[in-house]
Amino acid sequence: MNAYEIQAYVLENSIGNLYWKGRDGRFLGCNKTCAAVAGLASPADVVGKSIEELFFHILSKEEIQKLLETDESVMSLGVEKIVEEVGLDSGGAPAYYITKKSPIRDHSGDVIGLAGVSIDVTKQKEAEKLKIDFIHNLEHDIRTPFCGIVSMTEILLHQEKDAEKKLLIGDILSSANELLDYCNSVLIFSNFQKNTQKNELIEFDVKKLLDSIFAMQLSAAKAKKLYLELTCSSDMPKMLVGSPIRLKQMLINLVGNAVKFTEKGHVKIEVQLLPEKKDTSVPEKCYVAFRIEDTGIGIPREKQHLVTEKFFTLDQSNTVSHKNSGLGLGLAIVKEIVEDFNGELIIKSEVGKGSVFTCIIPLGVSS
Ligand code: ADP
Repeated sequence: MNAYEIQAYVLENSIGNLYWKGRDGRFLGCNKTCAAVAGLASPADVVGKSIEELFFHILSKEEIQKLLETDESVMSLGVEKIVEEVGLDSGGAPAYYITKKSPIRDHSGDVIGLAGVSIDVTKQKEAEKLKIDFIHNLEHDIRTPFCGIVSMTEILLHQEKDAEKKLLIGDILSSANELLDYCNSVLIFSNFQKNTQKNELIEFDVKKLLDSIFAMQLSAAKAKKLYLELTCSSDMPKMLVGSPIRLKQMLINLVGNAVKFTEKGHVKIEVQLLPEKKDTSVPEKCYVAFRIEDTGIGIPREKQHLVTEKFFTLDQSNTVSHKNSGLGLGLAIVKEIVEDFNGELIIKSEVGKGSVFTCIIPLGVSS
């Protein structure tokens, strides 16, 4: 086989669905698995067909519309997208797919189509459903009776006259409250995962978003006499494309932590474009660095890789503690958001001097 034949052989026999389409949305080619999912014997039968023609007997109108919208946004914005899709597997059973769609460009950089790679994640989805069911049960079976325990103990504490017994009831109450906080934090995290649209592409005004974060944290910083500063580089495009809700969530957690773990000095939010990372063949994409610097307690070097783990907290003396009042989920959420953006999170910190959290996020630039 020559190099071209080997390439075609690998492509045809690879697992997962591979396909490529023209700017009009019609298929130009695919591998065998992809043809089988459409109920066709050979990739050649797929060529020239549209999504509607191939899948009208498998998918609902809404599902087809969703696929068409994603394709169109990848091609018109010229940005890569990773989406969850529903469909059937090659045996005809319902299936979930994770699909990465990338724009295909000609030599002058114009988008002339898209390439898609889909992986069947039905098994992972089923496992995820079990996890979600478990967490919902946590709400009914554990949280509800715990709320009862807390309120009954509060009544008891109020009525009790004996000082020694009052002390014991107080201990029961604080332990019960701690467990209730734990349940609440698990539920907040699972709701965050369930509710946020991971790959939405929305146009947003970046300066407005930053101003709202600044305003939100200002009173907490003032209360601790900290200097809070926001700078955004002048070359920043006014409108960017991405998920402003998730960016906001990321920044609230980082700036909130910076204020929480700093007693003296400043918290600085610096946002700049990274021209050196710019891919000139994709002018609609830019890299933005969100840098949050504080002069707080810092994180020991050997613990820095642990702080983004779920439920990991350090107490004020920087020793590992799970009794800390923090929930230990803020940075886990930040990590998840940065990964969803295909970005990068860099943590630099020195005990007693402060920390710098930098998130480098690829975003679309609105025309
Ligand atoms: P939480 O703040 O609820 O404890 P996080 O996941 O946000 O949970 O952070 C995990 C741990 O990382 C915190 O308990 C804290 O010890 C440490 N940490 C996070 N941000 C900072 C910071 N800016 N300065 C010092 N320590 C930090």
